[in-house]
Amino acid sequence: MSAQTMKPKLLIIGLGMASMRLLDELVKSQATQHYAIEVLSGESTAGYNRIMLSYLLSGEKTLDNITSHNQVWFDQQGIKVRFGCKVVSLDTQSCCLTTHDGEVLDYDQCVIATGSQAQRLAIAGVDLAEVHCFRDGSDAATLQQLDSSDRRPVIVIGAGLLGLEAAYGLAMQGHQVTVVHRSDRILSQQLDFNAGQQLQKSLQKQGINFVLNRQLDEIQGAQQVTAVRLNRGEVIEAKAVVMAVGIAPNTTLAKQAGLVVNRGIWVDGWMQTSAKQVFALGECCEFEHQTFGLVAPIYRQASVLAKTLCGLQNPPFVHQANATRLKVSGVEVFSFGEPNQQGDHLVFQDPTQGIYRKLVLVEGRIASAILLGNTQDANWLFELHQQQTPISEQQRSALLFGQAYFERIAA
Ligand SMILES: Cc1cc2nc3c(=O)[nH]c(=O)nc-3n(C[C@H](O)[C@H](O)[C@H](O)COP(=O)(O)OP(=O)(O)OC[C@H]3O[C@@H](n4cnc5c(N)ncnc54)[C@H](O)[C@@H]3O)c2cc1C
Repeated sequence: MSAQTMKPKLLIIGLGMASMRLLDELVKSQATQHYAIEVLSGESTAGYNRIMLSYLLSGEKTLDNITSHNQVWFDQQGIKVRFGCKVVSLDTQSCCLTTHDGEVLDYDQCVIATGSQAQRLAIAGVDLAEVHCFRDGSDAATLQQLDSSDRRPVIVIGAGLLGLEAAYGLAMQGHQVTVVHRSDRILSQQLDFNAGQQLQKSLQKQGINFVLNRQLDEIQGAQQVTAVRLNRGEVIEAKAVVMAVGIAPNTTLAKQAGLVVNRGIWVDGWMQTSAKQVFALGECCEFEHQTFGLVAPIYRQASVLAKTLCGLQNPPFVHQANATRLKVSGVEVFSFGEPNQQGDHLVFQDPTQGIYRKLVLVEGRIASAILLGNTQDANWLFELHQQQTPISEQQRSALLFGQAYFERIAA
């Protein structure tokens, strides 16, 4: 109990996208009347929208523009927050945690929302100056300090979402940018070869270069990066390297506390960890052998956990097929299912307009989709997929031209 208020104390570790959504849900449910809530945020800035980081890097947005949960917000909600406060240990027997400055805080309920960290390849040169990641506001601030008058390129390793976001932001800052990717196409988890090529062309028009089918072997330099060497021997001059090769759940605290941890912190459908009164959500957790890297499922977890903490009856979190909706350098991308799904392929492509649509039908139902450039009918197609709606022979090609046309044909 909080001595001051005699309310049970709810401590939340981390102030990222998961915690902010949880806080919004708790405020909506008036949980502050029942709990004394305190948030311990490892970052020194107020709570911001991480998805908007590339716009911060590009200079199109300021930190203020993307900040939602600042001190004023916390004061208005009657929630305590400590910025720049890292939790270093958790004791689930005594129900307390210790912060980086040695303070011990008791809890009645504790939520771990420590997210992920960017992975670094274990190769020679990875510890040189000007080798960076792109995960948080301080990474964006560091990258903004790079000298754009130095015409040597920044090398981005990885053409997944985070690599492309970093490349876009850096190109907008006037840097030469080269993206190195090990697959034959960019955004390979979401796109097939044709869609990857089309998106790549749009990005090339914005000054981003690509080297595909290559891996990074070594980063060269004495103290600071001067070049990278790729697996076929090519050496590319570089002033900096940004690693965007994947993420790993932040589980150190949970492991040290003796919680069950696999890849992420094990949780059940109500976001309960293996310890009583301790919950976890977001990229740090693992549910039914799955970890998470996009906000849509994390927001559903936040909704489940808020109800759990408020003692409301609620159905558990369940896996749902996720669709990915992104805006990469101004180009809309939407996809679900396997990008290289076998089945009946329906394709529409208009390269001059930058439009690509591919739907794959298996046994007369939509199994996967890729929409590039125009994602207007994305939700409708995803619903047809989720509901496993049968598509007749006559209706199939109409699918590519959108809901309005499809319904006219069906009528
Ligand atoms: C550049 C970029 C672009 C993205 N774009 C998209 C997108 O378009 N669509 C999409 O769905 N997703 C996107 N994502 C992914 C999305 O941002 C993440 O899925 C989401 O942020 C995960 O939320 P989280 O709260 O679990 O982790 P985070 O948002 O990472 O928050 C975790 C917080 O916990 C803090 N923390 C860690 N350890 C401690 C500790 N011991 N004590 C105190 N605090 C601690 C961290 O500092 C961090 O602030 C993007 C991510 C990045 C980096």
